[in-house]
Parts: sequence; C-alpha cells; structure tokens
Amino acid sequence: MALNYQITGMAPCLADGAKVRVTALWNRDIGALLPYVNAVVKYASFDPGRLTITIKYRGCPVILERRRVTLGQLADVDEAEDVMEDLVDFLRRVQDKKSEITPLNQPKAQPQVQEVIRMLPRTNCGQCGEPTCTAFALKLVLDRQKAENCLYLTGDETRAVLQVLESMDNQQLNIE
Ligand code: SF4
Repeated sequence: MALNYQITGMAPCLADGAKVRVTALWNRDIGALLPYVNAVVKYASFDPGRLTITIKYRGCPVILERRRVTLGQLADVDEAEDVMEDLVDFLRRVQDKKSEITPLNQPKAQPQVQEVIRMLPRTNCGQCGEPTCTAFALKLVLDRQKAENCLYLTGDETRAVLQVLESMDNQQLNIE
C-alpha cells in the first residue's frame, strides 16, 4: 500500500504560541522503516524503545511514530502539507532503497549536539530553568529552549550557537 497520510489535528505550538503544531496519521504502520530513517538522516534522535524518531526539517521539529507524525513550529496548515509531502516522498525513497541501507537500531552520536554542549559554560548553574547545560542543549536542538536564556553567553557566543542550530534546521532529507 502506498504511504499516505491524513492531517487530524492542529493546535497552538507549545514552544511558540504564534505557530501551530499539527498531527497526522499514516495510512499504515511505518515502524519497520524507522531504523532505516535513523541510518540515513544526519541529525536524528531515535528512541528504539518507543520506536520514535525526532528530526529537524525546514526548521520544524518532526516526531515520526509508527502510526502518527507530529510537526511543530509551523506557520499554518499549508506549511504542514508542504512538509508532509516532502516527508512522504522521503519515506517512499527510504522504502525503495531499503536493500541498500543498513538499518540502525540505536541512537547515534550527534556531533552538532556535542558541539552545542561544548559552546555552553558547562557550569550546570540551572539559571536557564534546566538542571544541566546538556539538558539545555538538548532542548535547544528541539526548539524547546532559546539560546538567549543562557545568561552567561556573550552576544557572539549566542550567535555562534544559533549558527550551529541553523545548520541542523536546514538539513536535507537525502539518502546517501
Ligand atoms: S544558564 Fe547556561 S550555564 Fe547555566 S545551566 Fe543553563 S545553559 Fe548551563
């Protein structure tokens, strides 16, 4: 059955009330594809226990689940449709190339996340509201925190962190 989806919900985005969060349901279970997605997407956070994968695409956090997908930080439903069309196209390509991809069933190292952690003061002072600088960095990557909330970064340091985050936002959904 060709993969397709149906948008089933839209609500204000938790991270930015001016944007929307959209949920959609797949017309079939994509769980078996997710380790292949994990193998080919450069910046991906894979949870093998829950069988979910979180990626950034076009600046949106995207949570892929077996039967559902959640997109955050969208301008409107039209943008959600555009992102979903790209995701469906990508997942179909992954499906077609499965025999050439070695699936990855565990989380992989994310050098950019490590880079962001290294750019923070690493004093774990908690003043950003997170218990550690690592927790802050992980939330930055998922757009659940703002770099400006670390009070100890200079303007230049904040801009450097934002540049790294931007490089993750703009990743292409390519199959190498
Ligand atoms: S405010 Fe900055 S230094 Fe303090 S825990 Fe948060 S990220 Fe780390």
